[in-house]
Amino acid sequence: MSRIAYVNGQYVPHQDAAVHIEDRGYQFADGVYEVFALHQGRLIGEQGHLNRLAHSLTELRIDWPVSQRALGVIIGEVARRNRVRDGLVYLQITRGVARRDHPFPADTESALVVTARRLPPLDKAQLRQGVGVITIPDIRWTRHDIKSVSLLPNILGKQQAREAGAYEAWMVNDDGMVTEGTSSNAWIVTKDGELVTHNAAHAILNGITRLSVLEAAAEAGIGFSERPFSVEEAMQAKEAFITSSTSHVKAVTNIDGQSVGNGHVGELTTRMLDLYVDFIEAKGGPQNTNTWN
Ligand code: PMP
Repeated sequence: MSRIAYVNGQYVPHQDAAVHIEDRGYQFADGVYEVFALHQGRLIGEQGHLNRLAHSLTELRIDWPVSQRALGVIIGEVARRNRVRDGLVYLQITRGVARRDHPFPADTESALVVTARRLPPLDKAQLRQGVGVITIPDIRWTRHDIKSVSLLPNILGKQQAREAGAYEAWMVNDDGMVTEGTSSNAWIVTKDGELVTHNAAHAILNGITRLSVLEAAAEAGIGFSERPFSVEEAMQAKEAFITSSTSHVKAVTNIDGQSVGNGHVGELTTRMLDLYVDFIEAKGGPQNTNTWN
């Protein structure tokens, strides 16, 4: 079966899908994106993703290419046409095509691309296999709450992680605090047993998976703290994990070559993965999606 992409109003074979060389996404990384997980045929956290997209567009003053409602239909249609039950939908909106010039063009329509890709179904046993992370300086701009396609520091960081034999890189700000991973949110269980992840601020991208995990924890009566944590605190933590739409809840057992806790996947991490899967299967994603209003 050939893959289908949506490009500016048309469903086209993936292999023929193309945008103009003067698309401002290509010229300036002047655009935003979202990655939706599909789990057992269902889009996870759709409203959260759309609200976060609205926030990114508003902050960058990029117009919606189609209404939010129409976008929901297109996303579902791309998943359907590609027969994706487990996988992801990628969506990108740029400021559109215009002669290359820095200021916003007048009368240019935003450009929209939506693709979908199959992935193996969520596999708890695989997610429970701990991975390593490295720590690197956070060299990004200061608006991490905007899901911009400008990802150079993220891809350089991820590549550095892979070359070091690690799965992810945790970015550390000038105060020595871990902000987040290059494509995931960072979590620890402190030596005193407290579940911690960075508070939603300009310093991080507020993950849809992060929000689901926080709601699942609250429902289960598990306390947590949304605050920055230092590399030192992470090194002394009992447990660590990352969250994202593609990695779900993934155990971290090694930071900069040093074991986290006893080096085995932690109890609370295992519990959070179970709670997360139950939560998305029951609720379909975070219920409180007003974070960006
Ligand atoms: N932080 C960054 C920098 C990311 O790129 C991602 C993945 N989109 C996340 C966090 C996790 O967000 P989500 O749970 O919405 O996938």
